[in-house]
Amino acid sequence: MMIIDIRKLNAQKKYRGTLEFEYDPPEELMSIPFVKFSSPVKVEAAYELFADDSLELVGKIRYAIEGKCSRCLKETADEVEGELNAFFEPTKDYEDYGYTNGVINLKEAIDDAIMASMPFSLTCGEDPEEIRFSE
Ligand SMILES: [Zn+2]
Repeated sequence: MMIIDIRKLNAQKKYRGTLEFEYDPPEELMSIPFVKFSSPVKVEAAYELFADDSLELVGKIRYAIEGKCSRCLKETADEVEGELNAFFEPTKDYEDYGYTNGVINLKEAIDDAIMASMPFSLTCGEDPEEIRFSE
């Protein structure tokens, strides 16, 4: 379901609709040290297909991460939610995602949404113990 077939949507007159699918994210999208994805990325989005064959996709992504707390290195986990806002055009534009042959591949837009949603760190929520330095 990473593919939207514009020709099929036009043929079936499905100009609006929703998508829901799961995607196994590539590990290189993880930017937090000692942390990994612990679930697929769940994508829920609504699309609108316009008369000029451009398509707008608006929705949410959700996934879980686990690994070492960025402050105290204890094993911990968190859930991340991010926005998915993408506009696809049949010809490539500077700001938008392009597509060719009537088929949109969502991978680039979803990978971008994952990167945009990625927190800078994973923390366990506990205050780290005060570190005392001996003189
Ligand atoms: Zn911690």
